[in-house]
Amino acid sequence: MNQRFRAARWQDYLRVLQWLAVYLVVVIVSAVFLTPQMPPLGFIATLLIFGIGLVLLVRWHAGFTGYRCRHCEHEFEISTFTDLVSPQGTGPGGSWKYLRCPQCGRRSRARVLVKN
Ligand SMILES: [Zn+2]
Repeated sequence: MNQRFRAARWQDYLRVLQWLAVYLVVVIVSAVFLTPQMPPLGFIATLLIFGIGLVLLVRWHAGFTGYRCRHCEHEFEISTFTDLVSPQGTGPGGSWKYLRCPQCGRRSRARVLVKN
């Protein structure tokens, strides 16, 4: 097996939470201060920041993580879009994301890994 990915550590979760917090602060600040400015421009600007920020956040996350199929142990990466729309959660054995494996084609709660 290659060494492209490793198991996620708590520091990795912290990094995800940190960027999530930055995103939330930017969105809340723009919602509070930008939205009342020159309607509807302020509102549109807030929506733009909300949308662009979300894409940047998910793009970063998709590049940061890898996934391991539960059926064949194949490790793979996912696109920003897949990252955005796929259900995910945490359970015994770590975080998972419900994905279709590109190698065996079966769906499973793929184990979340971090890129080396
Ligand atoms: Zn597989």
